Amino acid sequence: MALQIQGVTKKFGNHVAVDDLSLEIPESEMFGFLGANGAGKTTTFRMILGLLEATNGKISWAGKPITYKESHLVGYLPEERGLYPKLTVKEQLIYLGRLRGMEKSEILKQLDYWLERFKVPEYLNKKVEELSKGNQQKIQFIASTIHRPKLLILDEPFSGLDPLNVELLKEAVLDLKNQGTSIVFASHRMEHVEELCEHLCIMHHGKPVVHGSLRDIKRSFGRKNVIIHADFDLDYLTSTRGVTKAKNTAEGIILQIDDEAVSQEILKQITGKGNVRKFILEEPSLNDIFIEKVGASYHE
Ligand code: ATP
Repeated sequence: MALQIQGVTKKFGNHVAVDDLSLEIPESEMFGFLGANGAGKTTTFRMILGLLEATNGKISWAGKPITYKESHLVGYLPEERGLYPKLTVKEQLIYLGRLRGMEKSEILKQLDYWLERFKVPEYLNKKVEELSKGNQQKIQFIASTIHRPKLLILDEPFSGLDPLNVELLKEAVLDLKNQGTSIVFASHRMEHVEELCEHLCIMHHGKPVVHGSLRDIKRSFGRKNVIIHADFDLDYLTSTRGVTKAKNTAEGIILQIDDEAVSQEILKQITGKGNVRKFILEEPSLNDIFIEKVGASYHE
């Protein structure tokens, strides 16, 4: 196990930001952290990195706490972006790479590689303040990973990026994972976590309300979706036994069902009623699960 969080609590005064959190984050994997605003994700990251001290509990990586000595093995893209605006990209990265014990020649080699890969080689000698927000973020991503960390923590890495840059960054993150980096990332974008992570947790009020492998989480949720596009009114289906939720869409309806067998009942009910253009039985999305689990506890 790469990273172990055992019974970790963080209090700010009387406020419990992280509440007795226990997680194991497997090695060479991508682990997703989901949670509403204020759920405790960033606080957890800061404790993993040793930037904040836990009130209680233990965090270890390969069996040992992460200290200053391991900083060359760890990379962090913080939520609040912070590059030096007046430095050029080259100056900035040399400075940060040197802090992690890299040789200047190696920094420049890696920097060329990454700027080329992110299709912005012309930024090498530009001042950070001259770059757009999204492009500054690409540079900060490079800064978090230029030293080839074994553990990479990314707080909202894709926010503010256009779709092409999201793809570039996703590919980079996947490559790093395939080369053996353990990656932990927080996101509000369910589809990114769904696409990239084998394991994940959904935090709520400092506790994981859902935790495990994506496949098991979906399976144990039990419910599925039936998507129907048809040329006739489908609203009558909402009263079918086993339909737990319904949402009208431009072309038809999405029904949430509590058991796969219900889909066959629905199929029977629409047969012979008119033209059906689409009938799909789908796994629940992470978004469905998030809304159900976090939404439900909002009202507790
Ligand atoms: P977001 O998705 O909005 O980034 P988050 O899950 O990262 O949220 P945290 O930033 O970890 O959430 O915050 C968790 C809770 O701890 C919040 O209620 C926040 O107000 C509180 N908190 C965080 N840092 C401090 C601090 N330095 N002092 C006091 N309270 C804090």
